[in-house]
Amino acid sequence: MTAPYVLEDGSDIAVVGGGPTGSFFSIFALKMARIVGKEIRVTIYEPKDFTKDGPLGCNRCGGIISELLVQTLAVEGITLPESLVQRGINSYKLHTGHGSVYIATPAHEKTIATVYRGGGPKGIIGRGKESFDNFLLSLAKKEGAVHCRERIDRIEYGGNRPVLFSKGKKMQEPDLVVGAMGVKSGTSALFEDMGFGYRRPETVTAAIAEISMDSTIISEHFGHSVNLFLLPVKGIKFAAMIPKGTYVTLCILGRNLDRDIMNEFINHIVVRNAMPAAAHTIACRCLPKMNISAPQKPFADRVVMCGDAGSTRLFKDGMGAAYIMGKAAAKAAVFHGVSNAHFEKEYYPVYKSLITDNRFGKMLFEATDLLKHNSVLTKSMLEVVQREQSGKDDQRRLSSILWDMFTGNERYRNIFYRGVNIPLFLRLLKEIPLSLIRRAA
Ligand SMILES: Cc1cc2nc3c(=O)[nH]c(=O)nc-3n(C[C@H](O)[C@H](O)[C@H](O)COP(=O)(O)OP(=O)(O)OC[C@H]3O[C@@H](n4cnc5c(N)ncnc54)[C@H](O)[C@@H]3O)c2cc1C
Repeated sequence: MTAPYVLEDGSDIAVVGGGPTGSFFSIFALKMARIVGKEIRVTIYEPKDFTKDGPLGCNRCGGIISELLVQTLAVEGITLPESLVQRGINSYKLHTGHGSVYIATPAHEKTIATVYRGGGPKGIIGRGKESFDNFLLSLAKKEGAVHCRERIDRIEYGGNRPVLFSKGKKMQEPDLVVGAMGVKSGTSALFEDMGFGYRRPETVTAAIAEISMDSTIISEHFGHSVNLFLLPVKGIKFAAMIPKGTYVTLCILGRNLDRDIMNEFINHIVVRNAMPAAAHTIACRCLPKMNISAPQKPFADRVVMCGDAGSTRLFKDGMGAAYIMGKAAAKAAVFHGVSNAHFEKEYYPVYKSLITDNRFGKMLFEATDLLKHNSVLTKSMLEVVQREQSGKDDQRRLSSILWDMFTGNERYRNIFYRGVNIPLFLRLLKEIPLSLIRRAA
């Protein structure tokens, strides 16, 4: 490097983690470097083989690619191939303790994709689709990134550069190290131990189960709908059943879930009624960690933390956030520089914008919690949505708020301001006496 903290021809970048964030960072860093006529080298450290089924290739996730991400990637020239998509989604079926309602995309198009991040559940029946993480990693390799299958187990500052080690062997002394290792491994400690002030994000324990079913039953019963559950089960914010090829992925989000809460949810009458009568088995389950609050010190000289290891979107569209943050870090590093000051000026505003937006998200989830514990409010909401969906109210205010809230289509801030809407409140209020009369009857 000729100028301090500026990437030049021959500069080396080490990316720890080849999930969506690591791949997005690498794709954009290499593309941007070419734009400014620089030849940089990017090495992605990723021990998982995303073509493998089971834990060896799995990055534990619901696998919903939001409409926003599908569209943004298309604009970037990255079209998701059919071979990747397990099922296109055009609607959500919302289940509450007091009834269910469909919420469809206005155009009834399958604008959301469901994928597997790796090869799918162990011993997957009906293999034949590609993995999303492998697809992105392959794109990064096409751009020129080198994939190294080693797991990084120590990072220290040698002089003013980070030095990466694996199994006691020095791997690299790059100009920049990108922390894209998520929150589901123990790797956060390596960056904490570097001593620049990074502390891992606050996390909660979520739950995932893969439910194996005949593909025709999935098509007939679930079609192209994600089933969403807003039930007053302790510790659970919401849950989703995401139809794929020969499995339905059940994701339960909340605070510190465990097997008992998971079983309580699966055995809930509303959940059992939402399942097809035909045989189905739980092929695998896990309790992955989920980022709910970003770390305070996500960068230093020659280090930047992205995606789940940094700031992400609360309870939705983590892969969309991986795109936003991976690209923002690449832009700061390639067009500006890799010092603490460069990241503070060029990367932190984007990082902070997700944190600010999540504050609105927290308020919206608090409101949702209130709603699902109150039968009158829940019934009023169902009435309003039903009316909107049947075409009796073409403004679809509440439907679009719920759609954007759970699909990751829109920033929480915008949803919040649309929610604070007088005509919508009036409509909900109008439904309350009717709900009370029906309850009394
Ligand atoms: C229950 C649940 C459901 C979710 N559902 C969705 C959803 O439907 N849609 C959505 O958009 N998001 C969803 N998310 C969020 C999404 O999974 C994350 O936001 C996304 O995976 C973040 O990508 P990442 O690349 O930052 O981290 P990860 O995907 O966790 O990838 C990190 C990578 O780093 C590698 N790594 C770790 N340590 C090391 C090391 N020491 N050396 C080398 N490599 C290492 C790992 O092997 C891994 O491949 C869900 C999350 C949870 C917990």
